[in-house]
Amino acid sequence: MLLPAKASMLARRPSGPLCVICGKPQDHAFRPFCSRRCADVDLSRWLNGRYAIPARDTDEGDGDDSRSTDSEVD
Ligand SMILES: [Zn+2]
Repeated sequence: MLLPAKASMLARRPSGPLCVICGKPQDHAFRPFCSRRCADVDLSRWLNGRYAIPARDTDEGDGDDSRSTDSEVD
């Protein structure tokens, strides 16, 4: 009597971390990717995301300078 379930458990076992882009085993030369192609994909994603972020650091407190100063003693 054989247990087919056990055989399938031995089928595929990744020996290391997987590429964050496509899920293939990583290449040590391109970690955390499997290839230069995936590294390029990640880089372009990162750049696109960066350029998509509007740069507004000095935009805080917009239209909020109508505070009433209650210490207006003359
Ligand atoms: Zn990959």
